[in-house]
Amino acid sequence: MGEEKKVSRKKIEATGVMNKYMADYFYELDRASKSGERKIAWCTSVGPAELLLSMGFLVYYPENHGALLGTSRMATEVIPNANAFGYSPDICSYLTADIGAYIKGVTPLSKAFEGIESVPKPDVLVYNTNQCRDVKDWFAWYSRELSVPLLGIHTHRNPTGIDENVIDSVARQIEDLVLPLEKISGNKFELDKLKSVVALSRECSELWKEVLETASAHPAPLTFFDGTIHMGPAVVLRGTQKAVDYYKILLKELKERIKNNEGAVADEKFRLYWEGMPVWGRLRAHSELFSGLNACVLASTYCNSWIFTDFDPEDPFRSMAKAYSELFIVKSDEAKEKYMRKMIEFFNIDGVIYHDAKTCPNNSNNRYGMPQRLEKETGIPSITINGDLNDLRLISDEQTKTNIEAFIEQLEESRIH
Ligand code: SF4
Repeated sequence: MGEEKKVSRKKIEATGVMNKYMADYFYELDRASKSGERKIAWCTSVGPAELLLSMGFLVYYPENHGALLGTSRMATEVIPNANAFGYSPDICSYLTADIGAYIKGVTPLSKAFEGIESVPKPDVLVYNTNQCRDVKDWFAWYSRELSVPLLGIHTHRNPTGIDENVIDSVARQIEDLVLPLEKISGNKFELDKLKSVVALSRECSELWKEVLETASAHPAPLTFFDGTIHMGPAVVLRGTQKAVDYYKILLKELKERIKNNEGAVADEKFRLYWEGMPVWGRLRAHSELFSGLNACVLASTYCNSWIFTDFDPEDPFRSMAKAYSELFIVKSDEAKEKYMRKMIEFFNIDGVIYHDAKTCPNNSNNRYGMPQRLEKETGIPSITINGDLNDLRLISDEQTKTNIEAFIEQLEESRIH
């Protein structure tokens, strides 16, 4: 491998607009938390946010806070506080970082937004176990700690296909939330309001999908690392007009890049797919590592997870049930592999990076032979890097660098021969 280069990816101009929208979102939550003027619901990232928004709640996502603890590199220092309460260092490091930060009385929001001293206080906690059991345990801790009601949906895990029984069951569970939420919010449920929010979420999803699909261009106008930042509005602002407005702006910029043949990574030679969680505290380092090798990590399952094109405003409960049960993370390996084959082909991928995140088995798909099966079927090589989403003690930067460099070398050699 040649001399070490530090190469940044091309800056996205729309970032300023996104930062403003995200700041508005956190300040609105902070005002409501301090004044009590609006009720606040905490929701899991792929929970029934549309129902909560339609009933007048402001919605806060602890997983987003977990990721902020990761990017700010505060996570590693606060995780032991949760361990001391019996939450193992081996379970979700979003959970342990978030609860640890609460126990310690710190939040990265204070550093990012002047005047915000703490996360917003919840009036209700709503989870969906579609992604993992950890979210339920996580919210249950706050429910006990803050004496706040806990509501949830239990989703069927690992099906190969979503049938009508699953949709019926999940839709009924979402409908069952209406009555308790009416009591907590003091607002009557209105079907038309829910339809409008679902329509906005659907529009946001279509645009986010289009944004991510621009990376099929050669060279790709955006990277996975951009995606992890710019997915913010799809996670916390879906169901609002702002998310729709933002993705129109971002999409315009990316289309312009394609027209001008501008890649996110200079001189793109290798096109890679990222499978698994990001390493939040190493986004920049990983981005520079790959860019320096003229490799563009341009697509991922992770960023795709906030595409919900099944939403249908005419059938809001059942379509929400379908969209939130059709997630990659919920499905069987057979269905996941089918999806991966499609992605490898669509984005014209040269190699796949699997991130084995120690504390998130749910998002580590390398553990049951999937990389080997997919390599055999597609002929596309892959590598697994060991690490974690948030706990930097579980990462060896040297090892990652050496493995990635060797992998790119292998890709280079296979082109020569
Ligand atoms: S899916 Fe993984 S990272 Fe997300 S909440 Fe569950 S255990 Fe944590």
